[in-house]
Amino acid sequence: MQKFLINKEALSADKVVIHGQDAKHIRKVLRLKPKDTISMTDGHGTDFTGCINKVSPECVEISILSEKKSLTESNLDLTLCTAMLKHKKMDEIIKQITQLGVTRWIPFYCKRSIPLSGQNREEKQIERWQTIARESLKQCRRSCLVEIMPPMDFQQVLAFSKDCSHRFAFWEASDRPLAGPFPGENNKAVVLIGPEGGFEEEEIRRAAESGFMSYSLGPRILRAETAAVCACGLIQYLLGDMGCES
Ligand code: SAM
Repeated sequence: MQKFLINKEALSADKVVIHGQDAKHIRKVLRLKPKDTISMTDGHGTDFTGCINKVSPECVEISILSEKKSLTESNLDLTLCTAMLKHKKMDEIIKQITQLGVTRWIPFYCKRSIPLSGQNREEKQIERWQTIARESLKQCRRSCLVEIMPPMDFQQVLAFSKDCSHRFAFWEASDRPLAGPFPGENNKAVVLIGPEGGFEEEEIRRAAESGFMSYSLGPRILRAETAAVCACGLIQYLLGDMGCES
């Protein structure tokens, strides 16, 4: 069964109330009743099991039975940075990377990215992306929401990446395969994926100056959203919890 996202601040005396669409889903789709158990998370790595006390059209009242640290989060702190693409592609990336256990996502502007105009537009987009991240979390039973950062410019992305041990820039012109070992001081990785028109060579040079190695994803040109998902899956395999040694 899916995990429901609760606000830890809303927990009082080991009780929590779920409202809105989630309450409707519990009542109408899952048809849960009093005494049924339910899985929940606070979106910050803690899971809860609860027992339903009351189901009404407005809300579902639950008693918390147990609380534990999540077992579904990766040991790898993985940041995906994708150049701004068309809306639908960005939405799809958030859904997929939630499933892949990515820690945070940074959309960024570079020479060939698709611009988002106006401050309000950016705020609205971030809200929309956060909603997609919340919905995706429930489905895949994760316990940490993907942290959605406000769009940055390329220089800010490079500065952000400074404290990551593993810096990967995916570039179709690179001939370096993604093969370890990847020694590092911390288990923090950052991935750069360019826009549909690709990175400019000068951007790859600047990334290299900031400690990024450029890597190939093979001889075919992948769509940016495919490349993002593929790169995150491979890196979770090599450094995170999708491989056999984790
Ligand atoms: N403009 C490029 C072209 O047509 O040759 C393609 C850019 S690709 C659609 C978008 C992004 O996906 C690239 O900037 C890169 O980050 C990533 N990408 C796609 N295919 C790749 C590959 N084979 N190796 C490494 N990165 C790749």
